[in-house]
Amino acid sequence: MKEILKQIPKTDKLLNAKALSGYNPNFLKPLIQRFLKNYRESLLKGGEVLSFESCVEQISKEYWHLSQKSLKPLINATGVIIHTNLGRSVFSKELLQEIFPTLIAYNNLEYNQQTGKRGERYAHLKKFLTSVDFEDILIVNNNAAAVFLIFNTFAKNKEVLVSRGELIEIGGSFRIPRVMEDSGAILKEIGTTNKTYLQDYQEAINENTAMLFKAHKSNYEIVGFHEEVAYEDLIKLARDRGVVDYYDLGSGYFEIKGLETLKNFEPSLQEIAALKPSLISFSGDKLLGGTQAGIILGKKQYIAKLKQNQLLRMLRVDKFTLCALEALFCAYLKGEYEKIPTARMLLQTKEALETKAKNLLAKIPAYFSPKILPTKGYVGGGAMPNRALDSYGVALKPKNTTKNIQSLEELLRQEGIVARIENECLILDVMALFESDFEAIKNALLKIK
Ligand SMILES: *Cc1c(COP(=O)(O)O)cnc(C)c1O
Repeated sequence: MKEILKQIPKTDKLLNAKALSGYNPNFLKPLIQRFLKNYRESLLKGGEVLSFESCVEQISKEYWHLSQKSLKPLINATGVIIHTNLGRSVFSKELLQEIFPTLIAYNNLEYNQQTGKRGERYAHLKKFLTSVDFEDILIVNNNAAAVFLIFNTFAKNKEVLVSRGELIEIGGSFRIPRVMEDSGAILKEIGTTNKTYLQDYQEAINENTAMLFKAHKSNYEIVGFHEEVAYEDLIKLARDRGVVDYYDLGSGYFEIKGLETLKNFEPSLQEIAALKPSLISFSGDKLLGGTQAGIILGKKQYIAKLKQNQLLRMLRVDKFTLCALEALFCAYLKGEYEKIPTARMLLQTKEALETKAKNLLAKIPAYFSPKILPTKGYVGGGAMPNRALDSYGVALKPKNTTKNIQSLEELLRQEGIVARIENECLILDVMALFESDFEAIKNALLKIK
């Protein structure tokens, strides 16, 4: 055994191997050491002796592998527009081009060019307030952070009243009761799972009550025997009793022409602004169609208090987020909705979706027996749960070589195309596809044969 172990190459010899000379030795060294440790263990277990060249080759392969990016584009044929696993809203190529010069240069993130003094990073987003009638705005890392910051600022060691029907858990283990507990707020459940009345809030308010909280039911619905308090009544009660009202909207959106039907399911930011709430918050990358962020809107006095909380320093956003959101707001202000992929997808008419499906069909090899089907797409991201959107898809049947539908789905997935299976057919739903995806889909299918 000793003789065998002697054949393990020395670290220095590997470090100086010609085939590894292109790599950074500081990164290479720990990789070699780990390789040698595993190699030694394998030899002790009776593993195969490797030549010096084959050791070098294995190390080289691993280094190359580690230097490849694992985050990469995928094609979303699932029919879900805001797909959390696939990165939520797609960020706009045009807007990215617009902010590119600012992102690769020094900029006025916290610099007032007029005075030459320090400026405020959140000031850049004030333009948002010209389109919706809120007094002030604040941005944090994501909506979960917004919820946490608001509880911590206004309700530390104080009570927050929440209806039992709104004690939500959303994906990624975000549970309102836990967030509240960690923020220092005291949860006071009121009402029942299916029914909560204004009187329940009225009776529960006491001198230690800080806030009336409402959460959007992002991933479920209560149907049947059911009652909840209208948001405007909650706001009025909070005002009368001198406490803060706060609505975690989950997903906020601007009213834009062509999207009027959204209002049947969720109030728009304009409608909510008219109620003059104390505070609301929502995600930047859901219906709004921007990047990850928690957007807080509300009365000046409350936003000012949030800004005084030291926690904000931990939750603050960087120039990438601020540039992206500012560009997004400008696009909304200028009515350039075609620059916002999420808005563009939501605005697709049934006819446009059918044409899109026909264009996709034309690209699919005939041996998959492609057929256009009406399908149901979804907004996703917790916006309008259980509300299907009429869409179209192209259904494929597996060929002999792809034994079954599951293996076809898997082969497409390996090629970066995420589809769904329905009634023994593979469906490519066009709702969240870009026309520019079609060529890649065709090439992937040709590869699969
Ligand atoms: C999505 C959502 C959140 C979390 O938002 P993130 O931006 O993912 O942190 C919180 N509350 C509700 C109601 C949501 O729908």
